[in-house]
This record gives sequence, structure tokens and C-alpha cells, in this order.
Amino acid sequence: MTQLLFRNDGYLRSCDARVTEADERGIRLDRTVFYAMGGGQPGDSGVLRLATGQEIAIVDTIKGELPDEVIHIAAVGSTLPEPGTELVAEIDWERRYRLMRMHTCLHLLCSIVPGAVTGGQVSDGRGRLDFDVPGSSLDKEAITDRLNALIVGAHAVGPRWIADDELAAQPELVRTMSVKPPSGTGRVRLVEIAGVDLQPCGGTHLRNTAEIGRVAVTKIENKGRQNRRVILAFAK
Ligand SMILES: [Zn+2]
Repeated sequence: MTQLLFRNDGYLRSCDARVTEADERGIRLDRTVFYAMGGGQPGDSGVLRLATGQEIAIVDTIKGELPDEVIHIAAVGSTLPEPGTELVAEIDWERRYRLMRMHTCLHLLCSIVPGAVTGGQVSDGRGRLDFDVPGSSLDKEAITDRLNALIVGAHAVGPRWIADDELAAQPELVRTMSVKPPSGTGRVRLVEIAGVDLQPCGGTHLRNTAEIGRVAVTKIENKGRQNRRVILAFAK
């Protein structure tokens, strides 16, 4: 099991760690700042720096079969480190920060558009959510204005943990049908944007909505009779 340092502090860029396993599937560490792909957020890229001076480029990060197992995927042709090797794990922070800004912005979008969320994806510089909403009532300009008002409103963002049974008693907290909240450990991590949004999420978030910067709805697509896809990008 890997200690997931990003879970309590999404702003950590690097950490000391020890290799627990390394094989053709990837490298496992005892602790990491690398977010593993999940919940619509891509896995981190970055580098592992060994005391010998060797640097191993990490091109992606995925989950393993075990809970909290994180697999760091090394660039093709990398020499794998031996188990027990001490190293420094460092993410590509510029990319991660853009992903955090867009991911946090999708929570704001979720609070603005009514209806169940049926899917979503964050990518570098862009993001989208699919909503189950009848009719074509969604307006690009209106959503853009409301998003930017919430961003400028500088709302605090932070984690909150609740027990599994508390969440089961409040099913309205789960907006995303396609992504099951991480549960089974007795408690679930919620992300709260003060006065705006509260829902289970295992991704990495900003501390304040002001850090998102200006955004725009670039497109609203019809994906089936009820499904509307709202696509966002950072404003130029
Ligand atoms: Zn989130």
C-alpha cells in the first residue's frame, strides 16, 4: 500500500520515498505525491531522482488492483530501480496545477447546472461534464458568467471526511453516477467549496476558487436526447 500524500495536500510537488516494487508494470513506492488516474482526472507525470544521479522519467500514473496502490509508469527503455532504493519523487507541477484548476472548476460547473452528472473528464487546459438534462435550456454565456462570478468570489475549497453510513443517508451528495466515490474503508472524502458545492471526490483541488482564473464555456453539445456535454477552457 502506498501512502497518498496528495490526498491531504494537493500542493505537494515532491517527497522522499522508497521503492517497494519495480517490474514491467511500473514502479511502486511506499509514499507518493503522484496522483493516479481516476475520477476523470489524468495521472501525473514527473521524475524519480535517485541518489546516484539517475533520473527516471514517469510518463503516467495509474491505480493498481489493491486499494491505495499507485503504479508509476516509467518511460520506455528506463532502467528500473531495485526495491529498497531511496529516491525523490517529483511531479510535473505546472501540468498538475492546470489540472487542479480545471478539476476544481468542474465542481463549480456542477453546482450551476441542474441534473445528474453522467460523465466527465479533465485534460490539460480543458474540461467537460455530461449532464442528464431534458430540453436545450443550457446557455453558454450565462454559464460562463456564473462560473467566473464564483471564481472571482474567492470561495475556500477543502476536504471533509464523513462515515460511509452518513453518506448512504445523504444520497443527494453524490452528483456523479459514473464515478463511484471511494468507499469501503469506513469513511469517504468529500470536497467542500464553502457555500457552493459539497460532494465526494478523490481528486486534487485548489485551496481557493480564485486560483482557477477566467474560464469560458466553449461548447455545449447534444449527446443523445437528454444528455448535454458542457465543455470548458481557460479564457485567453
Ligand atoms: Zn474533485
